[in-house]
Amino acid sequence: LPVLAVVGRPNVGKSTLVNRIIGRREAVVEDRPGVTRDRVTYEAEWTGRRFKVVDTGGWEQDVLGIQASVAAQAEFAVEAADAVVLVVDATVGVTDADEAVVKLLRRAGKPVVLCANKVDGSSMEAEAAYLWSLGVGEPHPVSALHGRGTGDLLDAVLDALPEAPAETFGATVGGPRRIALIGRPNVGKSSLLNRAAGEERVVVHETAGTTRDPVDELIELGGKTWKFVDTAGIRRRVHLQGGADYYASLRTAAALERAEVAVVLIDVTEPISVQDTRIITMAVDAGRALVIAYNKWDLLDEERRFYLEREIEQELVQVRWAPRVNISARTGRHLEKLVPAVETALAGWESRVPTGKLNAFLGQLVASHPHPLRGGKQPRILFGTQAGTRPPRFVLFASGFLEAGYRRFIERRLREEFGFEGSPIHVSVRVRE
Ligand code: GDP
Repeated sequence: LPVLAVVGRPNVGKSTLVNRIIGRREAVVEDRPGVTRDRVTYEAEWTGRRFKVVDTGGWEQDVLGIQASVAAQAEFAVEAADAVVLVVDATVGVTDADEAVVKLLRRAGKPVVLCANKVDGSSMEAEAAYLWSLGVGEPHPVSALHGRGTGDLLDAVLDALPEAPAETFGATVGGPRRIALIGRPNVGKSSLLNRAAGEERVVVHETAGTTRDPVDELIELGGKTWKFVDTAGIRRRVHLQGGADYYASLRTAAALERAEVAVVLIDVTEPISVQDTRIITMAVDAGRALVIAYNKWDLLDEERRFYLEREIEQELVQVRWAPRVNISARTGRHLEKLVPAVETALAGWESRVPTGKLNAFLGQLVASHPHPLRGGKQPRILFGTQAGTRPPRFVLFASGFLEAGYRRFIERRLREEFGFEGSPIHVSVRVRE
C-alpha cells in the first residue's frame, strides 16, 4: 500500500488528525509519555482507496530538543513515505520549526499536502490563506478535532499518493522470494548481509518500482536468488541521539510490508529483550513467514547458553513454530542452514489444507473434545474451510460462540495435525444461528 506520513512540530494536532484519518481513537489513547509506541503505521481508507498512515507523533516525547526532533522526525518519516501531510497550527502562524520542516520536505522531493489545522471559524479558507507563504502549495483548512475539512484534505492526499505500487505484497509470482532481515540495532544484520552478499553477490542497489526508493539487494544463496528488501536502512547507519527505537520500528514495518518472510536476528550474547519480542510480534502481526536466527553463536559460553535456552522458552513460546538457526555472521557458522529454514517457513506460509481433510479432522476433534457446555447449550463447530494462504487463514462455522480457550486449542491442534511450520495462522469463527 502507498504510505502517507503525517509530520509537523509538536502540538499542531498530528495525532488528532491521524485519528481522524484512520477513523479510530487508539493512536492517541494508547499514548503514554516516554514510551515508544508499538504501532507506527495504521491502515486507512478513503473513497475506496487504501493506504498506510505513519504516525510520527510517538517521537515527540523523546529527549531531544524540539527543533532537532522535528527535523529528524520529518526526515525519517518522509524517507518511508510516498506522500506527506504537513500539519501546521493556523492559529499560531508560521514558526521556525515549521520552516525547518518545509526545508527538509523540499529537499526530499515528495509530494506535500499542507494541512492548516485548528481552523474552527466560519471563513475557513480566508483564515488559512496566509499559509500560502510557506511555499508548499494550497493550505487545506481543517479542524481535526471536529472533523471539518478533513474530507477535502483526504481528497488532496489521494491525488498526491501513487496508486498501489506494482510490487506490493503477494503481487509478484515467480520472482525472487522477498526477505526482510530485521532485528534490533547491533544484532548483526549488516554483518550478515555483508557476509551473504560478499560471497555470492549478484546485483546490488536494485531499486524497487516505488517512489519511496527502498534499496533491495538480490543475493544468491543456496543456489537460488533472494531479494533482501529495504536494505538501505541496514546499510546506512543513521546516528540519532534519541528516537532510534522509533525509527528502527518504522523501518521494520516498512520492510515487513514488502517482504514475504522475516528473518529475525537475535543477539545471543544479550538477554532476549522486549525490543526483540516486539519485532517478532510485528512480523507475526504483519502475517509474514518467520525464521529466528540466533546470531553471534561464536561468542556463546556454557553459562550464557543455559540462560538463553530458558529465555527462549519463556519469552518466545508464542512462536515455537518458527524454524530456528544458530549462526555466526562473523565466522559463517551454519549460514547454509538459513536457506532451508526460510524455505520451510515459506512452504508453511503457503500451505493449503483440502476442505475434506480439514473437516474430517475437525469432526474427530469435536467428537473427542467437545466445547464446554454454556447455558445448557453446546456450541459446535459445523464446518471449516481454509479461506486463504500466505499465511493460512481458516474460517470455522459454529452453532454458537466459541470460547477463546477453545479457539486456541483448535489452533494448536491444527498445527499439530497439519504443520504450518514457520507461519502464523489465523482462525476466525462465524456463528451460524
Ligand atoms: P546491525 O545493527 O544489526 O546491522 O549489527 P552489525 O552487523 O553492525 O553488528 C553489530 C556488531 O556485532 C558489530 O561490531 C559486528 O562486528 C558484531 N557482530 C555481528 N555478528 C557477529 C557474530 O556473529 N559474532 C560476533 N562475534 N560478532 C558479531
